[in-house]
Amino acid sequence: MPDTTDSSQQFSFKAETKQLLNILIHSLYKDREVFLRELLSNASDALNRLRFEMVTNHNVLDANAELNIHIKIDKDARMLTIQDTGIGMTREEMIENLGTIAQSGARKFLDATKDQKVEFSQLIGQFGVGFYSVFMVAEWVRVTSHSYNPQAEAVSWYATGDDNYQIDKSNMSERGTRVEIKLKEDAAEFAEEYRLKNIIHKHSDYIGFPIYIGDSTDAVNKQTSLWRTSKQEVTDEQYKEFYKQTTLDFEEALLHVHISTDAPVQLYALLFIPSKVERGVFALRKDDGLKLYSRNILIDDYNKDLLPDYLRFVQGVVDSEDLPLNVSRETVQSSGLMPRLKKVLTNQVIKELENLAKNNMEKYNAFWQEFGVYLKQGIAANPMDAESINPLLRFKTNLNPETWSSLDEYITRMGEGQKEIFYIVGEDPKSVLRSPHLDYFHSQKTEVLLLTDPMDSFMLMGLHKYKDFELKNVAQAEIDTTNKTKDQPEAENIADADFKSLVERFKEILGERVSDVRASNRLYQSVARLADADGNVNPELQRVYKYLGKDYEIPKKILELNPAHPILKKLINQEEGSELQNIIIEQIYESALLVEGLHPDPSSIAARVQQIMEAALTHKTD
Ligand code: ADP
Ligand code: MG
Repeated sequence: MPDTTDSSQQFSFKAETKQLLNILIHSLYKDREVFLRELLSNASDALNRLRFEMVTNHNVLDANAELNIHIKIDKDARMLTIQDTGIGMTREEMIENLGTIAQSGARKFLDATKDQKVEFSQLIGQFGVGFYSVFMVAEWVRVTSHSYNPQAEAVSWYATGDDNYQIDKSNMSERGTRVEIKLKEDAAEFAEEYRLKNIIHKHSDYIGFPIYIGDSTDAVNKQTSLWRTSKQEVTDEQYKEFYKQTTLDFEEALLHVHISTDAPVQLYALLFIPSKVERGVFALRKDDGLKLYSRNILIDDYNKDLLPDYLRFVQGVVDSEDLPLNVSRETVQSSGLMPRLKKVLTNQVIKELENLAKNNMEKYNAFWQEFGVYLKQGIAANPMDAESINPLLRFKTNLNPETWSSLDEYITRMGEGQKEIFYIVGEDPKSVLRSPHLDYFHSQKTEVLLLTDPMDSFMLMGLHKYKDFELKNVAQAEIDTTNKTKDQPEAENIADADFKSLVERFKEILGERVSDVRASNRLYQSVARLADADGNVNPELQRVYKYLGKDYEIPKKILELNPAHPILKKLINQEEGSELQNIIIEQIYESALLVEGLHPDPSSIAARVQQIMEAALTHKTD
């Protein structure tokens, strides 16, 4: 039992904390060992905070004491003691940190573990209630602490896991915190040295301060962070565990990038590309950005200056010896080092993605599916980076609509004499395949990239050329039909005079809605297509305007007709000016608008289609 002195004070835990303690005390979790990870992680936090304090403040208690963690075991008494030389706690901090603060975390933790099949042991540390996990193994716990502040008095906290805790004065003279644990009978294993060593190797090897057991002067732990460990020494399991611990993402990362370099800047980094854009409900990381360490000390939890915006989905840690230790966030931003770090990191991430594409197409495609839109955005926003991003782009095409092709693959498949990379912009991959703009390309078996993602139009602002090939929109492409291969006999055109009067009918009916009506030599299956008049803004920019501005008006287009199409042939046979002729002309125009994705009110077509159906049926029964 703890000593009680005259200044002893009783406090009651809050309801949520009581509930949490109750669960923990009666838990039979097989992962009880995580309590040690939590206590060591708290000790390490406290040591880190002290080290940070000492950068600017030398007026601390025991300024020369080694920053370390000592574990003591008394097997017979079933006692385990963990003592650190960290920042310590004052009386108020103790009440706040081990009594009050935890309640909101406790509430959330209870909610999270209630109906979710999540691993309790994975979660406990994440809600600011890690300390309480000690009650899975403890009959009672006493925390004694002496703050680094030379004026502070030592104080102790004692609890058995029931409703109250007790605060006492203490005569502990040295700086730091000591956690004494009376182990439950069924937790005696945690008073075995080999067992503790195992747990430390498993969960806490990378704590950056020496952990000593008993009188030994050899630290049990490796003491180097995973990102500072050489790649050859890190196992896949360790990468996975690290990713899980730092993000609480339940899915494995798609890719990890481990960087250690001395030039042009000294830098360690361990970066991960998650498998999903969406952060899960329990995700630990609440924002984009990387953790930035300077010589193992965390100086920024969410640094957004280390990678370009289009790689903001990357998670992980960056550590550089070149950053000055006493950096404030502002000086981090303004030091010329950041752009250099950013450059190294960006190049490396892109390089690793290229490798992934080469070595594991399936995984790369999964990456592309999730994050491709970010890269497209990158091309739009950072044309300077386009050259390095371009090889990472993937496309569906008219000839390979189900698989992802790179621009390089497209180029190797190009027909002889093809000098441009063709693309079509549209609303969705299925309907774009029916576009009249593709008639000619289908007939020539020419491959065309299908750009159906809204971001594609933005991407095109930064993607005009790849290697030696200009990108060309098929809606605009000038087509030289002189040496086309005729794989199907061409249908007879309508006689010139008839076609002329038909064009007049179209112009009369459509009036101001089109800038011209004329014949096309590149339509096969389609009746008509809408083409841009010379001087019109190009179609993908029209689309960008459409996405950005509500009031943007699509410029008037030219309606091009297929002079060999059976519908037009029959249309000239209709009585001139008849209602049926009129509505079919309307419909041809509106269908063209529709496939272009430009129709302002698609459902308005239904009424006319009904009229046409009625006419068709009447005609049949005549
Ligand atoms: P978290 O570590 O997520 O904040 P914990 O429940 O593990 O949550 O710890 C609660 C708080 O108790 C810590 O934030 C810290 O302020 C304080 N604390 C715990 N252990 C120590 C320690 N060894 N030294 C100093 N403060 C500590
Ligand atoms: Mg903790």
